[in-house]
Amino acid sequence: MSAFDADRYSRQTRYAPLGVAGQERLAGARVAVAGCGALGGVVAMALARAGVGHLRLIDRDVPEPSNLPRQVLFDEGDVAAGLPKAVASANTLARINSAIRIEAVVADITPTSAMDLLAGVDLIVDGMDNFEARFLINEVACRRSIPWVHGGAIGAEGRVLAIVPGRTACLRCLIPEPPAAGAVPTCDTAGIIGPAALVVGAVEAAEAVKLLVCAEETLGRMLVFDLWTGTWRTVDLAPLAAGGCPTCRQADHPWLDGRMVGRAAPLCGRDAVQVPSAGGPIDLAAVAERLARVGPVAANRWIVRADVEQGIQLSVFADGRAIVSGTREEARARAIVARYLGA
Ligand SMILES: [Zn+2]
Repeated sequence: MSAFDADRYSRQTRYAPLGVAGQERLAGARVAVAGCGALGGVVAMALARAGVGHLRLIDRDVPEPSNLPRQVLFDEGDVAAGLPKAVASANTLARINSAIRIEAVVADITPTSAMDLLAGVDLIVDGMDNFEARFLINEVACRRSIPWVHGGAIGAEGRVLAIVPGRTACLRCLIPEPPAAGAVPTCDTAGIIGPAALVVGAVEAAEAVKLLVCAEETLGRMLVFDLWTGTWRTVDLAPLAAGGCPTCRQADHPWLDGRMVGRAAPLCGRDAVQVPSAGGPIDLAAVAERLARVGPVAANRWIVRADVEQGIQLSVFADGRAIVSGTREEARARAIVARYLGA
């Protein structure tokens, strides 16, 4: 460790359970942070500051004004600039810690992309806002025996669970049947206060550090809290782990295998719908030229955005996805994509 790093990390290496040996493990670790919003932003910031050597930041979206109360890696300038969240996050984190490696990946975690996006890492941390992506992460983690940390926040409530496939309960052990769309509250329907996301992200980061340095004292217990009522408890999931589930015991991967098909989906926290790619990567320059005939266009190497109709903004990503802002109706979003992209 260099003299600068010895000084930089001195307060955490002085913490005996971490120590210099733990710091060296963090420096050699590769972690994927799935989602760079409220939870993922806190996790990524904490891990970058802690000196985790390699962070892969995966996110499909761009920052919006309604993100600012709780998404700590973005400011008003990022919203105006229209850079993808993964790229804006990497820029922020590079100013915090220039010595670590940070990969920005602008992509959606889907049955076809999940295995590649989450390859070659020691740990995955959940910063997602939807069950489909979380179940995909769970299946990749179980298939490859990668530890991961699940977290969720809604309203003033949150929960965090560290999962080590084969040793602890997995996400499907906890939730045998994924809830139907619309059956569970989301941050759109129930709202969310920033501190709930900050707490969940902080606890997820602590669990990540503990897994990386092999501290296993709390493994198998899920933290559940409500900041408004001031209740905190841990739930022992050992009974669930004893029985296991088809995913962690019998290598059943329904989400990765495409048996639980995702659809055009409203995006949590936004008046917007994502329409999946119809045919893989596309030529953004050609899209920008085409949309410029319709309305004002802003483009960078990752994304083209255009105001195509009154109150409707179309964002097209290099991987072929589109996000239609200004509506929550899937049919309307699909129609807009078909009208302007011919997909
Ligand atoms: Zn399981």
